[in-house]
Amino acid sequence: MKVVIIGCTHAGTFATKQILTEHPDAEVTVYERNDVISFLSCGIALYLGGQVKDPQGLFYSNPQELAELGATIKMRHDVKSVDNVAHTVVVEDLNTHETTTVLYDKLVMTTGSWPVIPPIPGIDSDRVKLCKNWVHAQTLFKEAPTAKRIAVIGAGYIGAELAEAYSLKGHEVTLIDGEDRVMPKYFDQTFTTKIEANYQNHGVRLALNQRVQSFETTTDAVTIHTDKDAITADLAILCIGFRPNTELVKGKVDMAQNGAILTNDYMQSSDPDIFAAGDAAAVHYNPTGKNAYIPLATNAVRQGILVGKNIAQPTVKYMGTQSSSGLALYGVSICSTGLTYEAAKAQGLAAEQVIVEDNYRPEFMPTTTPVLMSLVFDPNTRQILGGALMSDYDISQSANLLSVCIQNQNTIDDLAMVDMLFQPNFDRPFNYLNILAQAAQEKVAKATAEA
Ligand SMILES: Cc1cc2nc3c(=O)[nH]c(=O)nc-3n(C[C@H](O)[C@H](O)[C@H](O)COP(=O)(O)OP(=O)(O)OC[C@H]3O[C@@H](n4cnc5c(N)ncnc54)[C@H](O)[C@@H]3O)c2cc1C
Repeated sequence: MKVVIIGCTHAGTFATKQILTEHPDAEVTVYERNDVISFLSCGIALYLGGQVKDPQGLFYSNPQELAELGATIKMRHDVKSVDNVAHTVVVEDLNTHETTTVLYDKLVMTTGSWPVIPPIPGIDSDRVKLCKNWVHAQTLFKEAPTAKRIAVIGAGYIGAELAEAYSLKGHEVTLIDGEDRVMPKYFDQTFTTKIEANYQNHGVRLALNQRVQSFETTTDAVTIHTDKDAITADLAILCIGFRPNTELVKGKVDMAQNGAILTNDYMQSSDPDIFAAGDAAAVHYNPTGKNAYIPLATNAVRQGILVGKNIAQPTVKYMGTQSSSGLALYGVSICSTGLTYEAAKAQGLAAEQVIVEDNYRPEFMPTTTPVLMSLVFDPNTRQILGGALMSDYDISQSANLLSVCIQNQNTIDDLAMVDMLFQPNFDRPFNYLNILAQAAQEKVAKATAEA
């Protein structure tokens, strides 16, 4: 079996390893246009903020490791076209500019995504940077010391992390977004109001509810003109989302509207010999039961493994995702999974929400810490649709538990009473998640009594 893998960051690395684990005799050739593999972009902000000291630690694999497993690794090779009828790809060696045509039995599209770059006048300025891969990371690392004023455009989780990192290092940071709240896709307003206050307490200027209309670059600065303001900075970083890199198979396989490759449960596209994983592919979003585009490394590594398990024949099904994610801003852990209340309503779902704040363990202990929690659920089926937690205490594993509840279609009644350990070092006789779900039960009971 000749397997060609295009792109080797997370989905490609995991697919390569799993294919060779399942099929040691497979002839696997990997084409990657860059000269590194497996770079963890999540480390960019951690390095800029000073938490990660050595960026080399942000790689967990390398071409040699994959070659030792039996893969042929072609770094600095760009796949230019795919002919799915002839089962060939045309590849350019970026060092010699030689092109070759290569046959495949199975093709794996792990071509990932690229930052959205809207056609805004002046956006091609040298002072407007991207934040996606190792090349971008090196530029940001190099320029950080001399850029006093930083404008981060896009207050999703990547922009949110960059704004924090730069502010911690004493830069003058402005965080710009067209929405009127930070991270609105991940958190409802009770949470984002607190997150915004935290930014302001750390000197980050929030320029929300305003759209960038043009960039004006002079010799020593860039001015970002929005519909409300003009913000001058030494550097602007564009973080307004990602688009799948799937031009190579456009018109050859079924795609979502944004170009994400649609796959079946076995990561197989509408062409049975073309598989897709990671940011190039759509995901199955369990809270809605629909396809969605959620470019996360969590999805990329899981889907990459599934490509390996299913490449010869459908074997292991994809479980879908809750889009669970978390970040730590100024020492506060903020995690979410599934739908926010706002998103559930926008999807037309019959959603209800409870928001509870409670100390994670009894007050008689030497210390305790409040945890702000949200639970989104369907009041008719009582099924859990989403949740969020925020605390100075590490609540990340509780968000993971909520993710499992959504995955398993648990109800608020399941979560209200499910067995969780009690010991005052950790929690109360009812864990704070039990208490959150009990509040949801009470809300439904009250609404039913009043109806
Ligand atoms: C700043 C930042 C922070 C992030 N933090 C997190 C986080 O904390 N948690 C999380 O889960 N996710 C995070 N993500 C998202 C995560 O990085 C992506 O979901 C992940 O990189 C997707 O992996 P991938 O392998 O599918 O695609 P990509 O990382 O996009 O890699 C695709 C690869 O394909 C190569 N390629 C594309 N086309 C061709 C071609 N024609 N020929 C040859 N090679 C090609 C590219 O060079 C690239 O190396 C973050 C992303 C960024 C940018």
